Amino acid sequence: MARYRGSECRLCRREGLKLFFKGDRCYTEKCAFERRGYAPGEHGQARKKHSDYGVQLREKQRLKRMYGLLEKQFRGYFERADRMKGITGSNLLMLLERRLDNVVFRLGFAPSRNDARQLVRHSHFLVNGRKVNIPSYTVRKDDVVELREKSRKVLPILDSLETVARRGIPGWLELDKDNFKGVVKTIPTREDITMPVQEQLVVELYSK
Ligand code: SF4
Repeated sequence: MARYRGSECRLCRREGLKLFFKGDRCYTEKCAFERRGYAPGEHGQARKKHSDYGVQLREKQRLKRMYGLLEKQFRGYFERADRMKGITGSNLLMLLERRLDNVVFRLGFAPSRNDARQLVRHSHFLVNGRKVNIPSYTVRKDDVVELREKSRKVLPILDSLETVARRGIPGWLELDKDNFKGVVKTIPTREDITMPVQEQLVVELYSK
């Protein structure tokens, strides 16, 4: 599957926000955004005035990159959200949040969504006792996400679990660290998503 292969720190600087692609490094002074918190490139420090379209586009790129998606996949989520009842922007965030790779990251099994995606692809997790290696799998209420027995000694996973407290676990998930399990207590709501996102701008962009 196609994926972005450029510098991840560059994306944080472009979006003006820490996207936490690099795990522990993101929490240290080595973080590129902490050192150079302006856009990359020759004109990165220049003052820019964005058009309405520019502001909407930036917001869409920001959200897409947070979840590590490419345009086609992201657009697919938007169309799915648009077909659902309720507010399209909130539906979009809920769908993204319910991706299995995001849940693995949120539960602390991986230090970033990219790492979580890799772990899911490599079949380290069970959902309700069955092997699932599809990062985009959408979790449901009461699903149990569990690290497979044979993966419970994988050092990067253990290291990530050690630092989970620093990142925090959202209220809609519950981690049983001793048994390497997490439960989806409830479907996330807009209030559960604390990242600075203005999803309405994304809806406006795609509705043109
Ligand atoms: Fe972004 Fe992490 Fe790089 Fe900092 S270290 S710029 S948060 S990916």
